[in-house]
Amino acid sequence: MATSVQTGKRQALRSLWIGGRLWIGAVVAVLLSATMAGIILAHVSRLFLHARHDVATLEQLRLVLDTANRISAERAPSNVLMSGGPGLPSARDRLRAARAQTDQALARGAAIVPAALLQDAVRHLARARALVDQAASQPPAGYGAVQNAVDALFAAYDAYRAVVLWRAAPLIRFDPELAGPVQHALILCFLRDDAGRLGSTIIAPLVAHAPISSSNIAAGDRLSGRIAMQWQLLALDPDLTDGGSRLAALRAEAETAYFGDGQPLVAGLIAEGRHGGAYTSDAAAFSGHYVETLTPLEIWRTACLDALLARYRQKEHQALDVAWIVGGMMLVVVWLIAGGVLLVHLRVLRPLLEASEAVVALVHDQPVRLPLSHPGGPELRPLIDAVALLDIKLRERAAQARQLKYQAETDELTGLLNRRAFLMLGEPRLAGAGPGERVFFILLDIDHFKAINDRHGHTSGDRVLVAVANALRAHVRPCDLVARIGGEEFAILIQAPSQGIALSLAHRLRQSVAGLAILSTDGARVSVTASFGVAAGDGLIWRQCVAKADVALYAAKRAGRNRVHLAEQDVFAWPSPPRSGPLPA
Ligand code: GH3
Ligand code: MG
Ligand code: MG
Repeated sequence: MATSVQTGKRQALRSLWIGGRLWIGAVVAVLLSATMAGIILAHVSRLFLHARHDVATLEQLRLVLDTANRISAERAPSNVLMSGGPGLPSARDRLRAARAQTDQALARGAAIVPAALLQDAVRHLARARALVDQAASQPPAGYGAVQNAVDALFAAYDAYRAVVLWRAAPLIRFDPELAGPVQHALILCFLRDDAGRLGSTIIAPLVAHAPISSSNIAAGDRLSGRIAMQWQLLALDPDLTDGGSRLAALRAEAETAYFGDGQPLVAGLIAEGRHGGAYTSDAAAFSGHYVETLTPLEIWRTACLDALLARYRQKEHQALDVAWIVGGMMLVVVWLIAGGVLLVHLRVLRPLLEASEAVVALVHDQPVRLPLSHPGGPELRPLIDAVALLDIKLRERAAQARQLKYQAETDELTGLLNRRAFLMLGEPRLAGAGPGERVFFILLDIDHFKAINDRHGHTSGDRVLVAVANALRAHVRPCDLVARIGGEEFAILIQAPSQGIALSLAHRLRQSVAGLAILSTDGARVSVTASFGVAAGDGLIWRQCVAKADVALYAAKRAGRNRVHLAEQDVFAWPSPPRSGPLPA
């Protein structure tokens, strides 16, 4: 029992250890996966933050470029207003609207642009606006007044160009990824401005109906050269020029409108200005037409900046998507590992442990509940079947062993204990009588049994033996031992509080045997009696006790049979002559 308890404890500990190791393995796997996912997430986060920073930087750049564009766009309505042509009221409205838009853009940029740079640009712009307003106050203004106002507008743009470069320069110098796109964005904006400036070189001559000055001719040449160079530089960016793309289509439209129409228009007017100043167009008409040829360029510029920003916003979103995917995958991995461990635990580990516990229980002949409560998956089917087979085989063996034990301990004819079993079971009882109990040995031998055999036959003799055995069995308690220890000799070992009770039992047995009604095989009535020797086992070893009862039995035989004799106290001093007294029949 103690062994099986220890085995049970060992099993429980082993089960805990194996289960614990499985879960420790799972936790390690989860930690490793989490570390890996953490590294990936950290990298993705850096990408995301980098992309977000790029987007924020580009949005700032976009803001200052748009502001520069607004300053540049003030020139067209200013020129019309200074020309004093028929479209004066509408030009005044357009100029007011343009100035309001510029001011709004400047206010928006105030939060990010260094104040000194911004103030310089605002100061130049205020001066330019004042000169424009002054020239527009007595139309048509003179060549000098218009040119001064135009130059002041150029100066305002140039002052704000410092703001543009302040924002763009660090990106070009320190951010290799953004350097290319930013440079192209700058070139595009400066191209748009230079194209506008080229038109403004002819405004003063047109307003004054005077030949163009040599400085304006030189400025026009310089601007045309710069525009051509900028156009060629932009052609190097495949994102802006690749055939089939929307940007390439817009570029083609801008090229057609500007280089096919706007620029030749200015070139023609400059040529007219060089040859005396007989112009085929006035300032307002030229200005309106020229702005139209710049519109596709403006659309292309806006679309390019939009595309650039969209590309970086997409990077930001992609990084965020990757972060979500990695996070999601991490969760899935954790679930898979935990689920896998749980599955292994439920479908393999617990069934294995239960099967091993069952085998140990079977080995210790303890009851096993089959089928097992955790039969596991199909992989474990053979093992579970083997345990069930083992259970069946062990049960069969146990039944065989019981059968063999029964056969080894039982007298075949009467079903009583045989001599060997009687000795084996009886000997310990001699020493271990309970408190207030004594052990008594009753030996009995059928009288003249040989004669019964001779008279009625051996089979009838067997009947007598069986009948006597049944009579004995009927009078003793289940805890008493009754055996057939020889041919027609029987022995009984009882525990009784007193000698009187033992003797009384022996008498009842004698009477019972004598009263048996046994029929022989040929139907004759067979009378049977037996002689009894009773011995108390107090303080005796087995052999002494048997000898003592034997002496009493033979005393009963000698005294005439069919009687009970009690062994005397000192009879175990055998082989001295026995002294046993007959008891009344
Ligand atoms: P006593 O009164 O002195 O005991 O005389 P007895 O004839 O009973 O004693 P004895 O020892 O001379 O005879 C015993 C006989 O029991 C001898 C033997 O043939 C017979 N016997 C022994 N075993 C069996 C058995 O299993 N069946 C049968 N029918 N007879 C048996
Ligand atoms: Mg006999
Ligand atoms: Mg005998």
